[in-house]
Amino acid sequence: MKSEKVDVLVIGAGPSGTVAASIVNQSGLKVKIVEKQKFPRFVIGESLLPRCMEHLDAAGFIPAIKARGFREKTGAKFVNEKDEESVFEFSEQFSEGWNWTWQVPRAEFDKILADEVEKMGVEIRYETAVTDIKFNGTDSITTVEDLHGNKSEIEARFIIDASGYGRVIPRLFNLDAPSQLPPRKALFTHIIDTRRPTGKDANRITVIIHQPGVWIWVIPFSNGNTSLGFVGEPSFFEPYSGSNEEKLRQIIATNGRLRERFKDSTFLWEPKVLEGWSVSTKKFYGDGFVLTGNATEFLDPIFSSGVTLATESGHLAADLAVKQLKGEKVDWEKEFVEHTMQGVAVFRTYVMAWYEGSLQDIFFAKKQNEKIKQQICSVLAGYVWDLDNPFVKKHKKNVSTLAEVIRLDNAQSKK
Ligand code: FAD
Repeated sequence: MKSEKVDVLVIGAGPSGTVAASIVNQSGLKVKIVEKQKFPRFVIGESLLPRCMEHLDAAGFIPAIKARGFREKTGAKFVNEKDEESVFEFSEQFSEGWNWTWQVPRAEFDKILADEVEKMGVEIRYETAVTDIKFNGTDSITTVEDLHGNKSEIEARFIIDASGYGRVIPRLFNLDAPSQLPPRKALFTHIIDTRRPTGKDANRITVIIHQPGVWIWVIPFSNGNTSLGFVGEPSFFEPYSGSNEEKLRQIIATNGRLRERFKDSTFLWEPKVLEGWSVSTKKFYGDGFVLTGNATEFLDPIFSSGVTLATESGHLAADLAVKQLKGEKVDWEKEFVEHTMQGVAVFRTYVMAWYEGSLQDIFFAKKQNEKIKQQICSVLAGYVWDLDNPFVKKHKKNVSTLAEVIRLDNAQSKK
């Protein structure tokens, strides 16, 4: 069998893998990516958060993405069942940092990142899947297989598993752990959007509460198409019948905000279904490997945290892998797991509070405290590591206390 040697092998050419590979490459170590699919390939996750710009910048990707002219995202709007609106502008956030990002069709976006990292000298082996890994201490031999069934081996001193929903190492080594969130399902497509609203709403991501526990994403792209998806517990979708397109059209017709806008519109592809995506992992690292991005833990799409957590963990994992390979000691638990889980824990609080309803009480409260709104805005911008922000530092307590105060206030004003 053919064999080759690298310092770092990255599994997967999504944003987590390409950011990680670029950072390793900058250190002078030899890095290679193996990617199961041919790019461009479809993946969901189209609304980014400002925080991920820091990692795209560190990886040297920003100029190439900018040149493509994706729709800039400067905030987000939430709409409830009473048609009340709550708008967050990232320019008004509490934390220091980026106050804008992009809304992107991921097939194109991920291809730009992958092409850039190749231009920097990192080889990507497409249509090649990892099928087996044998560790010997921190060194490893990975077996990969191309589309024609040809196998070869890659010897690596370290592996960064950024395989997303593929979860290569968790599956090979039985590391999957159940999520704390109930299973949810999404039905979504891209639509030729000929009746876009005017003004800011033409370009802004809007999250619409359809009914308790069910919400809709509306993400306009710069090419005139809009991504539309419904998310809810699987039972919500059961009454609808027919093909995925027929189901999605029936559901759209029940929503007052969307009915007219998307009536008779053209779907660019048969709507897709994804479900049961929330999953966790028993361990995030081991001798000679680390898991990043969706290969670690994915919560829920409501706050668009996926790509941000993927690039945050990819960037950090690459820095630490380089440090270790250059002979320094790395405390993976403290330096990687604690940091990553800090961000995951903050988002988990907000995801749970969203589905439980308390975050909606906060978003749509009649009286808004500007300072608190700025602090929550920073969480929505992905700045979930800023411990100067009380809505990050004491996320659970502050969200539940604030929701309680608002509920009492609402009850008082009804009397
Ligand atoms: P991916 O982008 O999935 O890339 C992993 C790559 O690994 C793939 O290209 C795959 O082909 C490759 N691979 C897999 N197995 C193998 C193998 N055996 N060998 C080699 N290569 C392999 N996130 C957001 O930020 N914003 C959103 O608006 C958003 N919306 C979402 C909506 C839904 C319904 C869901 C379920 C998720 C959403 N997400 C969103 C999350 C987002 O999809 C992911 O968090 C993000 O794509 C993770 O990036 P990644 O680089 O870790 O993995």
